[in-house]
Amino acid sequence: MAAAPIDRSTSWPYEDGEPGPFTYTRFSNPTVAEAERALGALDGGEALLFASGTAASAAVALALLGPGQTVALAEGAYYGSGVLLRELERWGLRHVEFDQTGTPPPGVDLVWLEAPSNPFLTMPDFEAAAAHPAHVLCDATAATPLHVRPLEKGCDIVLHSATKFLAGHDDALVGALAFRDAIPAARVREFRSRTGAVAAPDVAWLLLRGLATLELRVARQTESARTLVERLRRHPSVETVRYPGFGGLISFDVADAEVARRVETGTRLVANMTSLGGVTTRIEARARWEGDRVPPGLLRLSVGLEDPDALWPDLEQALA
Ligand code: PLP
Repeated sequence: MAAAPIDRSTSWPYEDGEPGPFTYTRFSNPTVAEAERALGALDGGEALLFASGTAASAAVALALLGPGQTVALAEGAYYGSGVLLRELERWGLRHVEFDQTGTPPPGVDLVWLEAPSNPFLTMPDFEAAAAHPAHVLCDATAATPLHVRPLEKGCDIVLHSATKFLAGHDDALVGALAFRDAIPAARVREFRSRTGAVAAPDVAWLLLRGLATLELRVARQTESARTLVERLRRHPSVETVRYPGFGGLISFDVADAEVARRVETGTRLVANMTSLGGVTTRIEARARWEGDRVPPGLLRLSVGLEDPDALWPDLEQALA
């Protein structure tokens, strides 16, 4: 198949004085629409791209909820989702946290799951969430549609930081939502046009390029992660290893913050930096971002595409 073209036009001529399929790029753009079609096919719903995963999260909260309503957020989910919801408290949106391995609390207006949660790597009870009368959103950033397709498990909305595994090369900031039903999708699309948090065509093109190799990358990352998890579990300096059994994201605990600092700064091949889902393996102590919400010795490891037989000796010497 030919590579998709990038259309950087910001506006297109009317056809016989009437708007054609594309008029102004804040409403829609051919390259963005092509990436939305590709991602929508993977998730089994109608996809919309945003300027970042966080812009997608904000759009859901602001477009579908209002003052006095409450979000039930999975405990231990991406810390930035909690930060965003705290920011929106000023506008009257409330949130509570709950254990997503059980039943969501009654009386809330949106259930917000994460599969698997980052960095605790718990999986939601999809059946319990689907039985809740509220809309259910699932952030499936760390799973990707290759491992978890939340719309098939009764969720209404999927959220991705496509910055991570989907675009996959650490060079594109982009977010996505996929919807099961047309009505909330249309509302959020309208909100996106009005507030302008759209993805740029170049970034949408990078996402398309990433999707072309998603399956190969995630298969390799999963295989390498399983090897590393097995070895970490046997290492005397490692206390707890968290891994959902698939994907490239692992977290594990060492004794304390000081040991964690030594490990993250002691690797040579594994980069000491944030983010996840790209080609480069990286490690970081999450307490620097999340404070006492995480154990002080918690290290998050995102496995890239390097040879696992080179990654393990690097981690082992840093753990020594
Ligand atoms: N959801 C999860 C699970 C994430 O890990 C992140 C970023 O780390 C986000 C959402 C936010 O995405 P972005 O950085 O693209 O705004």
